[in-house]
Formats: sequence, structure tokens, C-alpha cells
Amino acid sequence: HPKRKMAKFNVKKAASECIQCEKCSRACENFIDISRGMKEVKEGNYTYFSEMFMNCMGCGKCLAVCPQNIDIIRVMTEAAKEMIMNEKYKIRVGRGPIQDTEIRNVGQPIVMGEIPGVIAFVGCPNYEDGPHEVVEMAKIFLDRRYIVVTSGCAAMDIAMWKDENGQTLYESYPGDFDAGCLVNVGSCVSNAHIAGAAIKIASIFAHRDLRANYEEIADYILNRVGAVGIAWGAMSQKAASIATGCNRLGIPVIVGARGAKYRRMYLGRKDIPGDWQVFNARDGSKVQIGPGPEHLIYASESKEEAIVMAAKLCIRPNDTTKGRQIKLAHYIDLHKRYFGEYPDDIHYYIRTKADIPITEKDKIEEILKENAWVEKPIPDPTLLERLVRR
Ligand code: SF4
Ligand code: SF4
Repeated sequence: HPKRKMAKFNVKKAASECIQCEKCSRACENFIDISRGMKEVKEGNYTYFSEMFMNCMGCGKCLAVCPQNIDIIRVMTEAAKEMIMNEKYKIRVGRGPIQDTEIRNVGQPIVMGEIPGVIAFVGCPNYEDGPHEVVEMAKIFLDRRYIVVTSGCAAMDIAMWKDENGQTLYESYPGDFDAGCLVNVGSCVSNAHIAGAAIKIASIFAHRDLRANYEEIADYILNRVGAVGIAWGAMSQKAASIATGCNRLGIPVIVGARGAKYRRMYLGRKDIPGDWQVFNARDGSKVQIGPGPEHLIYASESKEEAIVMAAKLCIRPNDTTKGRQIKLAHYIDLHKRYFGEYPDDIHYYIRTKADIPITEKDKIEEILKENAWVEKPIPDPTLLERLVRR
């Protein structure tokens, strides 16, 4: 309120109450050396706290343990005041729903697997190492021509990073819902538009009835639409409910390591073949498929693991051989880049030899031989027996 006056806060005086017991630094999950910051603020040096400000998620754990009852978050905020007041970022305007015309253009390549996937960066900013990790992940998928969608805090965090030319990802990549483009759908509640895009693919591209037909729509998305959410800093109840809402629609979600605290993951077992069978809607036969998507909620320990997992979770039973080649090429390449070796589950995802990425042919044939691989049919996949066209 313009008339409301903030009580004057003497930042140096507050910091001078600190007795350097370091209880706060030990309590801080983000490894902020709060006692060092307090010491420096007392001496009039605000640099450390303004640098660390972005890493603080305001959890208040430090406040709870401070024997001097110092308002640590306030001290840090005051120390970073100069930086906060000068913050200016360019963000693409939140644009709301994905248009039907866009879905018509990309529906087929997504369902066939030729656009390798739709990756949505969503959720709270409870990052272990600051927002730059989200930007790095988004850039990798944009450069590989995935469709990248974002919302809420993740969308704002992406705006905070600039490349060597002073440009944000929003300035470097177009805003269409298309391969290699970055769409900001809007605020956190606009996540509904991301799920809505997947639903629209089932409705517009495959003419699935939208009314009272959740089961069929979810079956369609699970088996055909290679969409994955990454909620890298998820911490709220709301983020958990959005994530499980996506799971109900057949969209897997990766959370950061702290997401493990939700204590509910939906993890698949790729070593149990019986878990990975679908009906072939053409003739009703039961067909063995690869474990795709392997998990529905997965907590990743590092951004590298999340990148590789996201590429893998885009694999869907309905991929054409060309689509599967493209998705596997990204999965294998990212795995080699970040883990220095081939993934140990490639043989599960090869249905016929036409699925093998051409550049990896010799090595993968060797892997298939080692794993006594046998060719599998490519089904018209569904989990719903009533959709079999007999
Ligand atoms: S409020 Fe900030 S500084 Fe305090 S424990 Fe939480 S993250 Fe660390
Ligand atoms: S817990 Fe309080 S008194 Fe102890 S180092 Fe941290 S700010 Fe200072």
C-alpha cells in the first residue's frame, strides 16, 4: 500500500547481533554460508549476500535455528536490494492456449515421433543450484529441435539468463508451438494449457471424443504423445498435484532431487517384461513393447540425469521406425555425452532393425547380439481392449 510505511530495518545492526555460531549455515539446504555473509554485512560489504540471494528459496530453516533471532532472510534481502532494484529481464508474454492450427501442423510429427518430444519446464524455483540449470536444460532441447514449453516461475527464471550476445532464450528461439521453439504459456495455472495441447492432439489429430472420455484420451497420450514435464524446483502441494494430474493423462514428470521429499514416485520396472504389454488395436493380440515411458514421476539427482531421462521418457510405443530412430539417437547421444557410455537398456527399445539410428548401427547390433534380442511387431498400441477393431 503506498501509504503503508515499512518499519526501518538497520541491516548492519541486525548483522552485528550475529555470534558466528554457524548453526544457520549448517541448516541451509542450499549451502549458503550465512555466517560469512553476516560477517561481511557487519563490515559494510554486501557482495556475498547479493550473489547468494538467488540461491535462497526462503524456506526459513536458518531462522528456526538462529539463537539470536536474527531475521536472516530480511538481512539478505536488504543486502541484495541494489541488485533487486536494477533487475530487468525480457520475457516472452504468456500466450495462453496452443492454437488448433498449430496442433494441426505438429500433431502428426509428434505422434509419429519425428518431432522427438515436447518438454515442459514448469514448477517452483526451489533449485539446489539456482535457475541457470533450467536454462541449460531448455537450451539443450531447443537446439535438438524438441518443442519446449514453459510456465510460471520456470518461465521467469529462463528470462534471467543471457548468452554472450546479451540475449535470452526468448530472443534466440521463436515462440511457436513447433520444433526448436520456446513457448511461454503463462502463469503457473496455465500449465493446464500444456496438458490441453496434449489433449488437443488426441482430439484434433485423432478425432477422439472429448466428452466423458478421459480414459481414451489418456490412453492416446500415454501411447503416442512424447511429452515430458520437468519441474526442477518443485516444492509446493500445487506442483505435486499438477504433476500427478499430468501423470493421469499419461505425461511423465521429472522433479529435482528435492522432489523425492514428496515421497510418492511412480517408477516402472523395465526388467519385468509382463509390465510392458499393450493390445494391438488392429487384431487384439497382446504385444511386448519397450518400457516407454518407463516412469511417471521420477526424482533426478542432477540436471544431466534429468536431460537424459527426459529424452528417454519421450519414447512411445506408437513411434514410427523413423521417429524411434530420432528419439533413440538423442537418448544415446545424450547418455554418451553425460555418462560417457551407451545406455544399458537400448535393446528394450529396438523393435525392428529399422529402429536403429544409422550412425550407431554397428555398435547397437553388437549390443542386440549380447542381449539375445528378438524382433517384435510394431503395434497400434492401446491399453483398452474395447478399442480393438476386430
Ligand atoms: S531461507 Fe534461504 S538462507 Fe535460510 S536456510 Fe532457507 S535457503 Fe538457506
Ligand atoms: S545462526 Fe544466527 S547467530 Fe548463528 S551464525 Fe547464523 S545468523 Fe549468526
